Amino acid sequence: MPVFLFDEIIFGPVKSRRLGISLGVNLLPLKYKFCNFDCIYCECGRTYKDKYINDSFHTSKQVKSKLKETLLKMKENGEALDVITFAGNGEPTMHPDFEKIIDDTIEIRNNYFPEAKIAALSNATLINNTKIYDALLKVDYNILKLDSAFNKTAKLINNPPKNYSIEKTVDMLMKFNGKLIIQTMFVKGYYNKIKVDNTTEKEILAWVELLKKINPKKVMIYTIDRDTPSEGLQKVDERKLNEIADLIKSQGFETQVSK
Ligand code: SF4
Repeated sequence: MPVFLFDEIIFGPVKSRRLGISLGVNLLPLKYKFCNFDCIYCECGRTYKDKYINDSFHTSKQVKSKLKETLLKMKENGEALDVITFAGNGEPTMHPDFEKIIDDTIEIRNNYFPEAKIAALSNATLINNTKIYDALLKVDYNILKLDSAFNKTAKLINNPPKNYSIEKTVDMLMKFNGKLIIQTMFVKGYYNKIKVDNTTEKEILAWVELLKKINPKKVMIYTIDRDTPSEGLQKVDERKLNEIADLIKSQGFETQVSK
């Protein structure tokens, strides 16, 4: 199935389903996805670790200069901007200079679009690294992935590294003391003939219990929107997403549903 890769360091601005007018920053390679997950729904395609080479990251200097150039142009053209979003072809926190890039971005944002927010979308695998934890605390929208409360389901959906565990991840997420947004992708269907469904009652109830422990300031739920590398997956219908949203709201969490 077709997949989608960003071919620039800076992309957009685009109207994001979740964040408004968003200028994207892709810290990852342009020709393939770079991630330590291999989510079966990833719009960037599969993870091929054998492609990884050390010089595949844009330097922090390149990122700074491209971002500055783009924001200056947008300001001169009178364009609007709600958010600068770190996403792109994989996991942004895997960039070795992630913290420096966040500091540079805050500085440039303050100069050109002081009202705009900064968002980082991450799979939360590296938040035990102090530099990454500190960098994520500095962004306005620290959006971290948690697709299931069960290791078995996370293994099936996210294909995480061997040492990944939901228990360890939740412990680390709790250390943000509520300064985070949890994002969860709901998906159904089949992958390699194995049934996938993180919307069952058992899944949702266990996931809500974890939300109560993590205490995020917001929960973003969504389902697949574009083509995915696995053909057997389906969108979760709107009624089900709303039902999940109502349950989270009843527990006092601010909730955003993207359909
Ligand atoms: S964490 Fe994000 S970038 Fe990595 S495989 Fe999953 S969806 Fe793709």
